[in-house]
Amino acid sequence: MPPTHIQRFEYIRDKKNIISRNKLVNQQADIRARFIDYETRFAHNTLAGIPASPLLAIKDELRSCYGRNSGMKALQDAIEAAQEDGRLVWCPYCGITTPTSYDHYLPASEFPEFAAHALNIVPACAKCNSAKDDIWLTTGVRQFIHFYLDDIPVFPYLSVQLVADPLAQAVGAVFGLSQAGMPASIWAVMESHFRRLKLIERYNRQSNTLVNQALKVSKVYLDSGGHDAALFLENLAADQANLFGSYDLRAVLWRAMSADPDLPVWIGWL
Ligand SMILES: [Zn+2]
Repeated sequence: MPPTHIQRFEYIRDKKNIISRNKLVNQQADIRARFIDYETRFAHNTLAGIPASPLLAIKDELRSCYGRNSGMKALQDAIEAAQEDGRLVWCPYCGITTPTSYDHYLPASEFPEFAAHALNIVPACAKCNSAKDDIWLTTGVRQFIHFYLDDIPVFPYLSVQLVADPLAQAVGAVFGLSQAGMPASIWAVMESHFRRLKLIERYNRQSNTLVNQALKVSKVYLDSGGHDAALFLENLAADQANLFGSYDLRAVLWRAMSADPDLPVWIGWL
């Protein structure tokens, strides 16, 4: 049996110096109750209603449990091992770049007891981590998608328009976000997630690079004897969708490119 969340925390706590450890041990019952509350709310998707921390008096000791120590390393390894192979190649918040840090979904400043709770520690890229900062809730609505908690909606919320310029022999892409039939409660989180992380702007800034990468791999495929670049890209898009959801940035882009009759022309422009 893998260790429980509280066991992982208490392992980290027990390696701390005696002063910090004693302060934490004295609050053991409250910390345990808060862990149970987080996990129960997580299971019922009622995290938004979690009461304020009753443990701010020992916030420094709690926050110092998150850091370079063997227990935290084991916890982070377990987080990564729990994900499907390849899933953490891209940041779960934006999907653009590689996660190089960990975000505290409930900010450690406000909820220090969850600084070393595995369900609250989410891999993130530096950009998303710093944009998210201490924000998590506004008027009762969670402001970001929780990678472990929220199912990726099946509604076609992300769209892309491909724009070709034959004179410049270049292809660009313009992304857009829409509610797409999504229930209002899911849309509220999704809309805020995209707005606060500036995802559409970031996607559009990356779009030329992403289009070119896709054209280049298609060209390599054709140069090495492949016959159907559209089918090739469509398959890439399907693999991406399996792992990251149908409306993942790359899945949407590659699917649109594969469906465009001008794809062979664009590959010829390289
Ligand atoms: Zn990110």
